[in-house]
Amino acid sequence: MNPELISQLQQACGNDAVITDNAECWPYGIDNSRRQHAPDVVVMPQQHEQVQAVVAVCFRHRVPLVCRGRGTGTAGAAVPLQGGVVLSTERMNRILRMDPVNRLAVVQPGVTNQEVQDAARRHGLFWAPDPTSAEVCTVGGNLACNAAGPLAVKYGTTRDNVLGLRAVTGDGSSLRTGVFTSKGVVGYDLTRLIIGSEGTLAVITEATLRLLPLPEARQTLRAVYHDIASATEAIVSVMALPDSPCVLEFIDGKAIELANRHTDLGLPAAAGAMLMLEVDGNRDSISVAATRVQQAASNGGLLELRVAQDDAEAKQLWRARKALSPALRHIAPKKINEDVVVPVGHLPELINGLEKLSKQYNITIVNFGHAGNGNIHVNLLVDPDDAQQMTGARQCLADVFALVLQLEGTLSGEHGIGSEKKDYVGLELDTTSLELMRRIKQQFDPAGILNPGKLFPE
Ligand SMILES: Cc1cc2nc3c(=O)[nH]c(=O)nc-3n(C[C@H](O)[C@H](O)[C@H](O)COP(=O)(O)OP(=O)(O)OC[C@H]3O[C@@H](n4cnc5c(N)ncnc54)[C@H](O)[C@@H]3O)c2cc1C
Repeated sequence: MNPELISQLQQACGNDAVITDNAECWPYGIDNSRRQHAPDVVVMPQQHEQVQAVVAVCFRHRVPLVCRGRGTGTAGAAVPLQGGVVLSTERMNRILRMDPVNRLAVVQPGVTNQEVQDAARRHGLFWAPDPTSAEVCTVGGNLACNAAGPLAVKYGTTRDNVLGLRAVTGDGSSLRTGVFTSKGVVGYDLTRLIIGSEGTLAVITEATLRLLPLPEARQTLRAVYHDIASATEAIVSVMALPDSPCVLEFIDGKAIELANRHTDLGLPAAAGAMLMLEVDGNRDSISVAATRVQQAASNGGLLELRVAQDDAEAKQLWRARKALSPALRHIAPKKINEDVVVPVGHLPELINGLEKLSKQYNITIVNFGHAGNGNIHVNLLVDPDDAQQMTGARQCLADVFALVLQLEGTLSGEHGIGSEKKDYVGLELDTTSLELMRRIKQQFDPAGILNPGKLFPE
């Protein structure tokens, strides 16, 4: 790497904030997609002005710059495929302001999701995005991927819970977007544009997060069904209620079988599908909300419905869902994991279609996910070292995506495109949209240095 560039990065952030040793750079070249490409340099700024200087250096030298939170993304978005500079936000890890009166927090991008939740909780508040990786993933990563978790069914995704940003574009210009208020309509909504852009438009250096009051009470329910059709029928009925549950997770029969094999979950033997539901609200009305959900979830295929009476029982009911990921990791460590979304009313058709594809290609497909949003994690249990199986898997995947789009769905609900899914983007976005997106990218990043080779089809 150009010694002049390294020396300019050191001037910008200090000598101890720049890593050039190959072995030390290596861990910054991998994410949860298991793709790997080491960067040439890693730089660890602490504040906005340093980020601005780093981007300006990369712009001058026309060197790729890839932002990195904690590398938990699953789409290869944080992998520096073309080498260059990785900007790690690990030292931008401060909560700058906690403002309970105005229900907002201003944070640096390297703060973890859990740190935000812990700080907000002390004021009786929470930040709605709750990815399962909360303990380790950063707010910057959440913003760049528009991350979400089970609570999204009621409280929305990251995009719905951010008021404004501070950021640096690809030529080193500094900008503030959005507001500190609960309303605002001055100019285009650059906040929502940058959120979900996977580090291709700007480096986020600060975020103003919208906080919500913690509900007084929460109740957990678990419904087990004889078959998938009964479970999907229940999902549609529950989502038609005037008050949405705050969690509605789905697990299919295959997933139950695998989880059961790993840990004895004490589920009915004939279990063909399962829903985990939670309602939240104030103490006086929580049991009414739970009863309504219970009624909506009951149909001819219901085998068992349990309502947790206390926290310990709630934890016990969640065991089946929690046992699933380790079980899958154990059985098929290199599975293909997609996170497609369809409108909730089309879920029965999606699940039926996936069953047919599983039989057609002779590939075990395990489905679970955030059913209230119609967001299903479709897991193809394949062995990437088996070339024949992988050819079938690729065809199967193309058919899965075709099915999803035919059902008015979208190819990714939360994992994003990165490098893993960019070949499929053209299936969903028309040429006019793609061309407009390319021009927007050009305005934000005239030299094309920000996370090159991601998000756009070749
Ligand atoms: C066990 C596990 C469970 C998960 N569960 C969920 C889940 O429930 N819901 C969900 O949505 N995701 C989930 N994920 C995926 C992942 O955790 C999220 O996408 C998370 O938001 C990534 O955060 P990160 O800090 O690891 O970002 P990274 O992986 O480091 O980066 C992700 C993207 O963000 C960009 N980026 C990072 N910081 C900035 C910044 N400051 N400015 C601009 N761009 C930036 C990177 O360039 C990259 O494109 C899970 C992952 C794992 C491993």
